[in-house]
Amino acid sequence: MTKIGLEIHCQLTKLESKLFCSCKANYREFEPNHNICPVCMGLPGSLPRLNQKAVESAASIAMALSCETPDKIAFFRKNYFYPDLPKNFQITQLNVYGDMSVGGEGYVNVENKKIKIRRIQLEEDPGRIIYEGASERTKITLIDYNRAGTPLVEIVTDPDFESPRQVRIFLNILSDLLENLGVAEPGLEGAMRADGNVSIEGGNKVEIKNIGSFHDLEKALHFEITRQQSLFERDIEIAQETRHWDDRRKITVSSRSKEEDQDYRYFLENDIPWVKIDQSTRDTLKENMPESISSKKDRYVEKFDIAPQVAEIIASDRYYSKLFENSYSDSNAKDIANLITTDVIGFIDTKEKQQNSKITSQHLSDLIDAMNSKTITRNSAKVALQEIMKTGKDTKIVLNELDLGQVSDSSEIENIISQIFEEEKQAVIDAKERPETVNFLVGKVMQKTKGKADPVKTLELIKSKLGQ
Ligand SMILES: [Zn+2]
Repeated sequence: MTKIGLEIHCQLTKLESKLFCSCKANYREFEPNHNICPVCMGLPGSLPRLNQKAVESAASIAMALSCETPDKIAFFRKNYFYPDLPKNFQITQLNVYGDMSVGGEGYVNVENKKIKIRRIQLEEDPGRIIYEGASERTKITLIDYNRAGTPLVEIVTDPDFESPRQVRIFLNILSDLLENLGVAEPGLEGAMRADGNVSIEGGNKVEIKNIGSFHDLEKALHFEITRQQSLFERDIEIAQETRHWDDRRKITVSSRSKEEDQDYRYFLENDIPWVKIDQSTRDTLKENMPESISSKKDRYVEKFDIAPQVAEIIASDRYYSKLFENSYSDSNAKDIANLITTDVIGFIDTKEKQQNSKITSQHLSDLIDAMNSKTITRNSAKVALQEIMKTGKDTKIVLNELDLGQVSDSSEIENIISQIFEEEKQAVIDAKERPETVNFLVGKVMQKTKGKADPVKTLELIKSKLGQ
C-alpha cells in the first residue's frame, strides 16, 4: 500500500509587509538585496515585531481547512546554518510542547476520502540562493535576501494520500481555497511549493524536496513509487532519506540523510510575545471570511438552476466567479454561466491571461442581450469576446467594427443556400437520403457567412429546400 504525505509552503502574498519587519512582502519587484533591513538581516540589536495581519490570514486559512486554533500561539527558533538564512535561525512554530501553532486537526475531502491536516504553522521564508549555471559544478553562488522574512504558511498533512492523482486533486482544491480566501496568489512563481513523503508496503519513508511546481511533484511521486516498488520486489531495503527532484533527468536523487527535529535545537522565541486568539477574534475572522467555494457552488445550482459541473468550474476560480457575480441578473444567470464555461474559458485559461484580459461583466451581459435578441450568433459572440479581451472596447463598437451582426433575413440566407446546393451536389444527395448529414450543409452556410447566419433559420430553410 502506498502512503503519501505533503508539506506545502504557501506565501501570504496579499500582505503589505514581511512577517517581522516593515520591508515589503512583495519582494519580486525589487533589485536583489534592496528589500532588506536590520531585522530581516538579523543584525545584532534588532528586534522582530510580529505582523498581526499575517496571524489573521494564517488563522483564516486554518479555519477554512476546518482546523482547531489554540487560544494562544507561540513562535520558536529553528537553528541551522545555511547561506539563505542571515540570522542562522528561522522563526517558525512548533507543537512539541503542546498545541502552539496557528492550526491543527483539520481536513479536506478529496473524492470522499478525508485527508487530515496535521498542522498549520506561520513562519518566515528564507532568502534565495541563485546558482550561476548547473548547481553541482558552478563556482559562483549568489544570494538575494529580498525574500528573507516573507510570511509563509506551512500546511502539513497526514500520510493519507494513496496516489499521486489524489495529491493533484488536493492541491487544486487547496490552491482554489487559498485564492478564494484572498490571502495568496498560488499562480505566482514560487508562491506555493511542496515537499512530498512516500512509503510503500509499510517500509521506510522517503522525503522528496526541491520541487518547483505541482506538475513536477506529481511526476516525482510517480517516479519515487516505481523506484521503491522495484527495490521492494528485489528484497532490497528502502533507505530512509531525503531525495530531490532532478528536473532535467526526471528522476529523484539522494541528497542527504534525514535530519531529525532535534538537530535544529528548537527553542522558544522570547523576542515575540505569545499571541492570544480569543473567541471574539475568531468570530470576527469568520464573519469577514468570503463565501466558501462549496457554498457558492450550491447557491448557483439552487438559485439559478445551473448545472453542477458548470457551477463548480465558476465557483472554484476567483476570476470566473467575480465575472459571473458582477454580471448576472435573475433572468440571464444561466446564459452568463454558459458563456463563461464554454467560450471565455477557452481563451482565458491562465492566470496571466486573466490578469491581462479587458473583459468586464458589462461586456458579458451585453453579449447575452445581443444573442437573446438575435442580433448576433453564438459564433459571433465568441469572435467578439476575443477582440474585447484584447481591446476592452464597448461591445456595440466591436460588433460594428467586426461586422458581426447576425444575418437573419430569409431571402439573404436562401441565396447563400442556393449557392451551396450548386457547389455541394453530392452532399445534397446524401442529405436527402440520410437527414442526419444535413449539418454538413449548415456548416457550409456558416462558413460562407463567417458564422453570422442565424443557425436555426438556416437549418429550417435547408430542410424545406430538401423537401423534409
Ligand atoms: Zn526587513
